[in-house]
Amino acid sequence: MACEHPRVLHVGGKTSDMCNITWPDDTESDGYVPSGLGIGGGDYLNLSICIDCKVVLGLASPEDIAKVMEAEAAEEAERQARMAEQRAQRAQKGW
Ligand SMILES: [Zn+2]
Repeated sequence: MACEHPRVLHVGGKTSDMCNITWPDDTESDGYVPSGLGIGGGDYLNLSICIDCKVVLGLASPEDIAKVMEAEAAEEAERQARMAEQRAQRAQKGW
């Protein structure tokens, strides 16, 4: 069944840093819209959906989505490590 997507629903939202993503492995990310997924990026969530075949047009490949997921997880781990380090320094200084 060939579909050239003549009927597309566009959905846009300015989520800024309040975008929540649940990844295929059930982990979550909170923050700006990750780029590289094909769903927008930064402040904006942008979806183009073919209403006939119910496909998100431009959605990244599973491999690319996995890469973004790993990058987000690494960034989150780094953030947690930084916060732990700051807490340790504060404790040392007796704050
Ligand atoms: Zn279509």
